[in-house]
Amino acid sequence: GLPPYDPQNIFARILRGEIPCKRVHEDEFALAFHDINPQTPVHVLVIPKGAYVSHADFSAHASDAEVAGFWRAVGRVARDLGLESAGYRILSNMGEDGGQEVPHFHVHIFGGRRVGRMVP
Ligand code: 5GP
Repeated sequence: GLPPYDPQNIFARILRGEIPCKRVHEDEFALAFHDINPQTPVHVLVIPKGAYVSHADFSAHASDAEVAGFWRAVGRVARDLGLESAGYRILSNMGEDGGQEVPHFHVHIFGGRRVGRMVP
């Protein structure tokens, strides 16, 4: 299983303003910022403000308002970045087999070029 939430993880520190980020959106439920090591011309991370390790944790324990607010923010960020007409990918790594590095739930938004079909 997944470890308990670590309040010293890097995204928790970004949320507290202890580490800077290139913010693209912030509201009551979510923060979106550019990935420090972009894999595509547009590579943005969207994170909920609550302390959730993974999507499993988030989907099981967040309130309906948090879940709705978070996913609406993902959609809004993609739209605001101009990705809707060309398309884009959203992706979330979870746990060890999923290759998750930062243990605060996040969604990657990849776009700005053809990202092709998903291959595991
Ligand atoms: P994961 O593998 O956990 O899904 O992805 C974590 C992502 O966070 C990676 O793409 C990595 O480049 C990004 N990242 C790690 N540390 C920082 C940071 O301090 N600032 C930003 N903006 N991105 C980070």
